[in-house]
Amino acid sequence: MPKSATAAKPAQRLMSADDALARVLGGVPTLPAVETPLLDALGLVLAEDIAADRDVPPFRNSAMDGYAVRGDDVASAPVELRVVGEVAAGGFPDRTVGPGEAMRIMTGAPMPEGADTVVRVEDTDNASDLVTITAATPKGMATRQAGEDLRKGETILTNGTVLRPAEIGLLASVGRARVRVRKRPRVAVFSTGDEIVDLDAPLGRGQIRDSNRYTLASAVRAAGAEPWVRGIVRDSPEALRAALREGIAADAIVTSGGVSVGDHDHLKPVLSELGTIDFWAIAIRPGRPLAFGELKDGDRRVPIFGLPGNTVSALLTFEIFVRPALLRMQGRAHVARPRAKARLLEPADKVASLRVFARGVHDPDAGTVRLTGPQGSGILRSMSLANCLIDLPVGPSRFEAGETVDVILTEQPEAP
Ligand code: AMP
Ligand code: MG
Repeated sequence: MPKSATAAKPAQRLMSADDALARVLGGVPTLPAVETPLLDALGLVLAEDIAADRDVPPFRNSAMDGYAVRGDDVASAPVELRVVGEVAAGGFPDRTVGPGEAMRIMTGAPMPEGADTVVRVEDTDNASDLVTITAATPKGMATRQAGEDLRKGETILTNGTVLRPAEIGLLASVGRARVRVRKRPRVAVFSTGDEIVDLDAPLGRGQIRDSNRYTLASAVRAAGAEPWVRGIVRDSPEALRAALREGIAADAIVTSGGVSVGDHDHLKPVLSELGTIDFWAIAIRPGRPLAFGELKDGDRRVPIFGLPGNTVSALLTFEIFVRPALLRMQGRAHVARPRAKARLLEPADKVASLRVFARGVHDPDAGTVRLTGPQGSGILRSMSLANCLIDLPVGPSRFEAGETVDVILTEQPEAP
C-alpha cells in the first residue's frame, strides 16, 4: 500500500505543554516602555514609579452636606448655633467658625478654620439663621483630612503594577495625563488555507468560512493586545512570503492552519529566509502541532505563532501558549490563570499519552465540573459553552465520574 507523505515522515518526539510554554515565555521579548495617554493605559503595566505631586485631598473638606461646627459645641443635643455663612464645593470659606457658630457646608467643600466637625443636615432643623442641632455628634465627624488618601511625595504605585480602573483613578488624582507603560503589543492575525473564505464572500463548493481570524483577533484583544487583522493567506510560498513581510511590522504574528506535519513545507523555507521557526508536536489534545519562531527586523524580534487550523485547536493553543506570551511581552509577572479542583460529574475518556484540555462547565459553589458535550477539535461550540478547561494529565485513559480533576478558570484574570 502506498504511504501518504505524512505517514512517511519520521515520528516527531512529543514535547510537553509545560516545556513548550517555558520555551515560548523564554523566547518572547518584553516590549519597550512608551508614554501613553492615561485613558489608553487600562490593563497595561506601569513602567515607572509614581509619587503623589500633592496631598489628596489637597485640603480638609466635608464628607457630608450639613453644618461645620466646633466639636465641643455639639457633644450633647439639642443645641442652637448661629449660622455665619455657607460654603459649597468649589468655593472657599470666607471666615472662621467660632464657639457657638456653624457654617452651612456641602460635600467636598473646604472646612472653615475653627471647625473640626460636620453635623449632617439630617441631624438639624436645616435652618439658615439659628440652626438647631438635634443629635449629639462626635468631634471629627464627617470631615476628611488633607492627604488622607495620598500624601505628597509618597510613592503610590510602583513599576510593574497592572493598571486597573482604581490605578487609573490614582494616576488621575496625581495629575498624570500621560504615563509610561509597557507597549501594548500589536499582533498581526492571518488565516491560511485555500479553502478559507471571508465572511462577505459567497461560499463555494469545498470552501469554509474563516472563523479563526475572528476568534484569534478577539482573543488577542482579550489578552490586552491590539489585533491587526490581516488577510487570508493562500497555501503558496509566494503568498506566505508576502504575508510575513507585511506582518513583520507588528510586535507578534499569529497564524492559523498549515502547520500539521507534512503540511508546513511552505512556512519553514519561507521563514528561514526571514527568521527562524520550530515545529513542535505537543503532547496535548486538541492542538498537537504548533509552530513557534521569530522574524528579525533590525533589533526588533517579532515572535510568530503558527497555530493549528481546527477551530478549537486554534483557540485552545492560543489560550495555553499565546495569551501568556502576549502578557509577558506586556511585562506582566503573572501569566497563569487561576485553577481549582472539581469533582467530575461524568466520565471522561482520553488518550493516555496526551494531556487533554477538555472544555467544561465548572460550578464553583457545588465544586463540580461537567463536559460541554462533543469534544472534537472542530466543535467550536464546545468552547462557547465552556467556562473552564478541564486539565486531564498524561497517564490515565479515563477519568471516572466522582474523581477530582484540575480545572483552569479561563474566565478569571491571571493573578498572583
Ligand atoms: P490545517 O491546520 O490547515 O490543516 O486545517 C485544519 C482544519 O481546520 C481544516 O479542516 C481547515 O479547513 C480548518 N481551518 C483552517 N483554517 C481555518 C479558519 N481560518 N477558520 C475555520 N476553519 C479553519
Ligand atoms: Mg490548511
